[in-house]
Amino acid sequence: MKDRNRIEEEIKRLKKQKNAVILAHNYQLPEVQDIADFTGDSLSLSQEAAKTQADMIVFCGVHFMAETASIISPDKKVLIPDEKAGCSLADTINAEQLKKWKEENPDSVVVSYVNTTAEVKALSDYCCTSANAVQIVNSVPVEKGILFLPDMFLGAYVAKVTGRKIHIWPGECHVHAGIRKQDLDEMQNSHPDAEMIIHPECGCTTNLMYQATNGSSINGNGHVKFLSTGGMIKHVKESPLREFIIATETGMLYPLRKGNPDKIFHPARENAVCKYMKMITLSKVLRSLEEDIFEVRVPIHTALKAKRSIDRMLEVTN
Ligand code: SF4
Repeated sequence: MKDRNRIEEEIKRLKKQKNAVILAHNYQLPEVQDIADFTGDSLSLSQEAAKTQADMIVFCGVHFMAETASIISPDKKVLIPDEKAGCSLADTINAEQLKKWKEENPDSVVVSYVNTTAEVKALSDYCCTSANAVQIVNSVPVEKGILFLPDMFLGAYVAKVTGRKIHIWPGECHVHAGIRKQDLDEMQNSHPDAEMIIHPECGCTTNLMYQATNGSSINGNGHVKFLSTGGMIKHVKESPLREFIIATETGMLYPLRKGNPDKIFHPARENAVCKYMKMITLSKVLRSLEEDIFEVRVPIHTALKAKRSIDRMLEVTN
């Protein structure tokens, strides 16, 4: 504990000295979330950081998220405490593969989930999140074909809800395997009074979104909600219910338990853990600030094109 206190004090001192802001994704380790200036989902974190006067962003998340922060704040130095913190979903498609797919499907509109590299965003027409993917696809003229990537479950969900014919990239997140419908059924049977909340922030729960629209009842008691991070925290606080089953990466349980000590939260599955997210530790955050590592810089021409896909998404949703 003494060591942890010393590391935290040193992080705070260096953060002030370097005029840095620390961002932590909801799936980060609790001690990393505690030291952060902002916690949240990937896009909202980058948007919050852009509003600050900080010279430096330390992004405690995975690589594509740090790239997104660099795209939105090109004047700030962006660091990721572990450069190996990648994303198995983002890694399913690279720029070369997307170029080829576009050539095979000329005149199609490319809609990319936010879990993609900067290079892939730069080749995309629209970026989207799981919360706005349906709205983005609906905004595309009906005569246009759509290439949706990289999450096949989110793509299938969007195709089902919109009724559009969509070409879907066969990518998925390894944490998918961690949360299955049968886990939800078992949890619901063990905790019949609990409300089920599914947070489709990352690829780990998009298969459940798909199943919910595919004639597969997610649970028996009708208490099921798909909520964003902010929506989840607000809903749980205001709800008269005391017990919840949380279907997402287990890191999300930390802020929920912290903010609602009188309520009970069960993970839909204990081992729904993103190993990449857990690579960031307090010691690595400290080292990052001490040595200015590892810098994530998106080349300006790529950043400008990638930002266009994010701006187009915001034009549709705002
Ligand atoms: S949970 Fe899956 S989609 Fe999310 S960062 Fe981890 S590997 Fe990527």
